[in-house]
Amino acid sequence: MERNHIVEGGMTLANARQNGVAGLEGWCGCGHHAVVPIGPVIERLGPARSIPSIMLTCSRCGARVRARPDWSEAKAQGKPDLRPRPQQKDGGVGHG
Ligand SMILES: [Zn+2]
Repeated sequence: MERNHIVEGGMTLANARQNGVAGLEGWCGCGHHAVVPIGPVIERLGPARSIPSIMLTCSRCGARVRARPDWSEAKAQGKPDLRPRPQQKDGGVGHG
């Protein structure tokens, strides 16, 4: 699989884990915030499940909350970012 097209907010569980995401988080309107580990979620729903289609239930008020990838772990790991290298010019244009 060469395609590695990651759409913000539309990634699958497998994609998220590949990118270092260790859990899913949900923010409820009541102010409750919860994080669930991604491993058991993948076992239950399958790796191809897209994260925005997953709904978590708030344990405080019972509302349904859309799951989001929890990037805090991935950021803590300090993934190397890819930067474009400065182009080197071939010198040596003499005058003559
Ligand atoms: Zn709530």
